[in-house]
Order: sequence, then C-alpha cells, then structure tokens
Amino acid sequence: ELANRMSERAVDVVKLLMAQGQMLKPGDIIDSDMAQLIAEEMGHSVVRVSESDVEEGLNDTPDAPEAMEPRPPVVTIMGHVDHGKTSLLDKIREARVADGEAGGITQHIGAYQIERDGKKISFLDTPGHEAFTAMRARGAQATDIAILVVAADDSVMPQTIESIKHAKAAEVPMIVAINKMDTPGADANKVRTELLQHEVFVEGMGGEILDVEVSAKTGDGIDNLLDAINLQSELLELQANPDRPAEGIVIEAQLDKGRGAVATIIVQRGTLKKGDIVVAGSEWGRVRAMIDDHGKQMEEAGPSTPCEVLGLSGAPSAGDQLVVVDSESRAREVSDYRQRKARELEVAAQAGQRGSLEQMMTNLTEKGADKAPFVIKGDTQGSVEAIRSSLDGLGTDEVQAQVVHAGVGGITESDVTLAMASQTPIIAFNVRANKQAQEMAKREGIEIRYYSIIYDLIDDVKNTLSGMLAPER
Ligand code: GDP
Repeated sequence: ELANRMSERAVDVVKLLMAQGQMLKPGDIIDSDMAQLIAEEMGHSVVRVSESDVEEGLNDTPDAPEAMEPRPPVVTIMGHVDHGKTSLLDKIREARVADGEAGGITQHIGAYQIERDGKKISFLDTPGHEAFTAMRARGAQATDIAILVVAADDSVMPQTIESIKHAKAAEVPMIVAINKMDTPGADANKVRTELLQHEVFVEGMGGEILDVEVSAKTGDGIDNLLDAINLQSELLELQANPDRPAEGIVIEAQLDKGRGAVATIIVQRGTLKKGDIVVAGSEWGRVRAMIDDHGKQMEEAGPSTPCEVLGLSGAPSAGDQLVVVDSESRAREVSDYRQRKARELEVAAQAGQRGSLEQMMTNLTEKGADKAPFVIKGDTQGSVEAIRSSLDGLGTDEVQAQVVHAGVGGITESDVTLAMASQTPIIAFNVRANKQAQEMAKREGIEIRYYSIIYDLIDDVKNTLSGMLAPER
C-alpha cells in the first residue's frame, strides 16, 4: 500500500525495509515512523496527518435554525419475544399498502416508510433491541421513538424490562402498544399496572407515556397507534435541514452477488442524491442507485427517508455513518485512513490491549461486575472534581462508573500501575503522559484516552457503559 501510494514498486520498498533490518512481505504492517523513513529515503515528502485532520469537516457543520424543517420520526419496535413485534410491523405496512398509496411489491430493506394523515413515519424493520444496541454501541442513534409492545394476554416479561432499560438509557421516548387485545384473556389494565413497577407511567395511570390498545391480528387500534406516533413526534419537534449534503446512518448492509455492496441507510440530515460521492465507515463510493422499500428507483432521499444505496466499495457496518464528500480523492482519503485505523486496532487487539475502554467493558461483562473502574488525570483540581462527580455513578442498572483514582497533573508510571491493577483505561483531561508512562502503558496494554472537552469524555463513557447491556436472548 505504501508503495502504491508513492507509485513505487513494492519490491523496492521491501528492499529498503530489509536494509533497515525489517524482513517483511507485502501486506505486513509497519509503523508510521518506518513508513516516513522509507518514503523520505525514496525522495517523497511526507505530511503526517492526525485523525482530526483527516476527518475534519466531515460532520461538524452546524445548520442555521432557519434552515431547519420538520422531519418524520424514525420508530423502532421493541418488546418480549412472541408479543407481536413482527406482526405489528407487518400489519402497519400492510395497512398502508391497502390504502393504495404504494401498490406493488414490498421489499424488506431493513426499514420502511408509511404515511398517516399526510405525515410520514419511518420504521426500522428489525424488531427487538439487538440492532438498537449494536448501533448505540457505535455511538449512533437512529431512533426517535420506541414502541414497547406488551401482549395483553401475557404480561411484562424479561425482554420487556430489557427494552425499557434500553429506551431509557438512550433517552428515546416510548409509546406502549398493548397488543393481542383480540384474545379472550386480554387484560390491558394488568399490563399498565405491571409497567408501573418498572417506572413506566402510562397516561391511563396518570403518567405521560402514551399507551394504545391494538391487535396486530385484526388491525384494531393500529390507526390509534400511528396517531400516537404523530402526536409524540410533534412533541419532539423533530427537525433537520434538507438542503445540504447528506448524512445518514447505516441500518444494515451486505454484499449482494449481482448488485455488489448494498447498504440500507436512513438519511439524518440533508438530501442524498444519485451520483453523490459518499463515505460510509471505511467504505466509499459514488451512489450508483437508490432504491426505496418498494424496489423503486429514487433520485434523492431527504431526512428520515430509508433507502438502499448501491455503489459502495464494500459493505459498511450497521451504525456506521454515511457522509457525502465533495470529491473522490477526499472519499478515498477518509476511507483509507479508517481502514488503516481499523487494522491498527485489530493489531492492538491481538497484542492484547487489556486496559482499553472496550476491552475493560468486555471483561467486566464476563465477570458480571457492576462497577466499571476509571483512573482520571486532569489539569486542575476543578476539572478533576467536575469529571469525578459526573462519572461517579454514571451508567446503567447493570454497571456504574467508579473513579478509583483521580489526580491533578501529567500521567506518570504510578498512574499506569494503578490502571493496570484495576485493568482500567486512563482518562486524561488536558494533560499528557510523560515518556516513561507512555512506554509503560503501551507495553502493558493500558489505553490512555485524551480529552479536552468534558462532554466528549462523559459521552464516551456513557456510550460504552450502555453498550454493555446484555443482548436480547
Ligand atoms: P415477535 O416475536 O414479537 O415478533 O412476535 P410475532 O409477531 O412473531 O408474534 C408471535 C405470535 O403471536 C404469532 O403467532 C402471531 O400470529 C401472534 N400474534 C401477534 N399479534 C397478535 C394479536 O394481536 N392477536 C393474536 N391473537 N395473535 C397475535
């Protein structure tokens, strides 16, 4: 790859590496210092770029308030197995087709959009909270409203409770759909009462959470459910600027034999157009075609619209962000950079990064621990105290952050030792690590995370902790 980028022969690069005592073959990985040495040796000039350089400007342009327009809500359906999530999704979709609005075949692309009272609503077509959690673990939030399905002839079950926790952790408002109202044993009030115990206060019980009685079998109440979604959506005042280069989120993606990489995305802001050059995760491409949930070709897709995108170099992951960029070279640069980073992470993982944030979380889950330890170093007493008080107790019902050590000043070997003992990453706020500490951390696989904005720091920790919630069984 290095040879390629310099338009040199790989064999010449390998030779120079040999001269440096590095016996490597094409495909092996060298570090950036060695790459710079080789490149300069061959008469090329090297510009070192950092993450912020490469990814700068990708998604940091704020929208002017006057450019904002209302956008449809994106809805996920969650609940216990067999309570009727799939049936409900099918019925909602069917109801629209029956209205004659769509006609033709429906195509499962992972999301679909319907209309109620002239207002559009997008649904994620994968029921359950697995997809939801997977996306959130990547820092993505695709959902505006969560429908909690509870069967009226059953009751609140383990996955109902899980779903409630997920929605609450993500701060996504819920609507309760009490399903199977057609069954003889249906008792909606029993469901409402049981939900109280899990701090879900529905309207009927004097709370604010909308609840609707439905039957996914007969279709009764579906219209009320859609009305409730529209009402909730109005309360949320969902908005986006449609008039800018698009950004979206990947819902699912696969490699299709005939069509190549196919990614279903939901546009989050801007309008995606055929021919746009996009980066999605570490893949990139020119949008060759866009297809809606009826298999029809689209020319463009605005905010909250789901669509299949064809033309990417490979399949990105669910939760990856898709961003329009202004040139192919820019797209390639970002995608190259991200691929490189992914490989580096892989190498680091193989080397056993015991103290990385993610690795620590995995370890804790395996051990069933409920405290996630952190070591914090900051530039002033004030900042350290602020971070300590925001982090302590942060988390979910399953796991909470616990600051095991907090101090002022640069990171030293003693901090790394402490982090090793608790197998925790070190959170650095506006401070750096001295050389010995850096080397020790590297050797021992302790991750040092640098921050200069407290919000980012808290957000990262919060996201990681909530990603720990056990997946649906
Ligand atoms: P999921 O696991 O939550 O996706 O549940 P499904 O949609 O697969 O439904 C589980 C079972 O309940 C299926 O046999 C459905 O036919 C049935 N079912 C779903 N909704 C209703 C309903 O409103 N009334 C009745 N009687 N059966 C339902």
